[in-house]
Amino acid sequence: MDAERHETASQSVGRPANAPPYFHVLAKPTGALCNLDCKYCFFLSKEALYPHSCFRMSDETLEAYIRQMIAGQSGPEVSLAFQGGEPTLMGLDFVRRAVSLAQKYAPPNARIEYALQTNGTLLDEAWCDFFREHNFLIGLSLDGPRAMHDAYRVDKGGAPTFARVMAAARLMQARQVEFNILCTVHAANAPYPLEVYRFFRDEVGAQFIQFIPIVERATAETLSIANEGWGDRRHGSRPLYRQAGSLVTERSVTAEQWGRFLIAIFDEWVRRDVGTIFVQMFDAALASWVGAAPALCIFAETCGNALALEHNGDLYACDHYVEPDYFLGNILDTPLIELVASPKQRAFGADKRAALPRYCLECPVRFACHGECPRNRFILTPDGEPGLNYLCAGYKAFFTHVDRPMRIMADLLRRRRPPAEIMQILAAEEAQMRTAFARAGRNDPCPCGSGKKFKQCHGWPGAITSDRPAS
Ligand code: SF4
Ligand code: SF4
Repeated sequence: MDAERHETASQSVGRPANAPPYFHVLAKPTGALCNLDCKYCFFLSKEALYPHSCFRMSDETLEAYIRQMIAGQSGPEVSLAFQGGEPTLMGLDFVRRAVSLAQKYAPPNARIEYALQTNGTLLDEAWCDFFREHNFLIGLSLDGPRAMHDAYRVDKGGAPTFARVMAAARLMQARQVEFNILCTVHAANAPYPLEVYRFFRDEVGAQFIQFIPIVERATAETLSIANEGWGDRRHGSRPLYRQAGSLVTERSVTAEQWGRFLIAIFDEWVRRDVGTIFVQMFDAALASWVGAAPALCIFAETCGNALALEHNGDLYACDHYVEPDYFLGNILDTPLIELVASPKQRAFGADKRAALPRYCLECPVRFACHGECPRNRFILTPDGEPGLNYLCAGYKAFFTHVDRPMRIMADLLRRRRPPAEIMQILAAEEAQMRTAFARAGRNDPCPCGSGKKFKQCHGWPGAITSDRPAS
């Protein structure tokens, strides 16, 4: 480590005028290095950015990250987050050092939150006890029941990993570690939303669930290699994954599948699990209906406040843009806050809004979607304008479908009532509708209010789903 270089970036700097009050930096202490070879994980290809690296964050870089993160926030909350690759490959002592450095630099009023995303395969009692002691929020990657998980989440030898990940979940439960499930949605599990959701709820016993759509972009030149998986080395070195190309791999979820997946889970959740199971996507949507800022950057109007730090101190615009064009600088050379506030990074965040096609600007659910993440904006709008989100059809279907229940929950919140009361409201309403349907004759007006005869009507607009209940 170059001590002089470290010293330069550690000088205290004034807070740039356009620095955001709060920002998030995902530290990748092993870079893209991982002990698994999940087929859809294009992050594995990022090794190509650092050809001779050992992919281990030095103590100096770790210290610079923590000190500068704490110094860079304008409020007391500081989030220190570790992801990969697989961050547990660094060993528990590395994370211990991270916590003691945070304790060393945190002012008395600071509230430090630790988060770590893991595939779970290396966790043991010592890791879990440490996580619990320091209230780490753990994200565990699990893609559903065994066959769906093992479809793509394999180790370096191609062996399935489901049993090892489930063992990690059980261990964390036994040691009372708070964790949420991070489930990527892809070709193997997208057709089975309820099986996936019920598995997490009923068999894993998870309370917090995140769903992330797998959209692996490719060009005509890279598609066949990409289809074989980013961990596959039969073709020699892997191409560096970039946010480029308008084709997608066969593992990617389609927009329609994504919409159906979210809708099916939402319909079950809103009838029986509000207040007990927390699905990040639904919470983010509710925030939009309430008029609050969504906790997910993908649904915010602008972004640029969720950056990624490579193992050597290189900072990139976002974890999804760890590629040369989005490199901002190294925190050992330039203070983190200056890089976060740099014109390049501010423009990156503002472009999320500025680049929206007219189709989005005129969209009735834009207030909740905001065109989602720029990384997925690579298709044409119906009138041929570029920049529409590949998942648009799914999001439009989902946000339109949840409008009424979201308005009910938002109204409950405004009246300081728990949103979980929606379950009783819907149950009462559906019981009433069932009775009306049961009594209606074939030639009577349909009880749904469409004005059609019952025998001609298939709608159910008075309730929240399009499925007519059995009478
Ligand atoms: S590029 Fe996408 S994932 Fe990255 S900060 Fe912006 S919205 Fe979030
Ligand atoms: S649903 Fe589609 S059209 Fe509407 S804001 Fe989202 S991406 Fe744009």
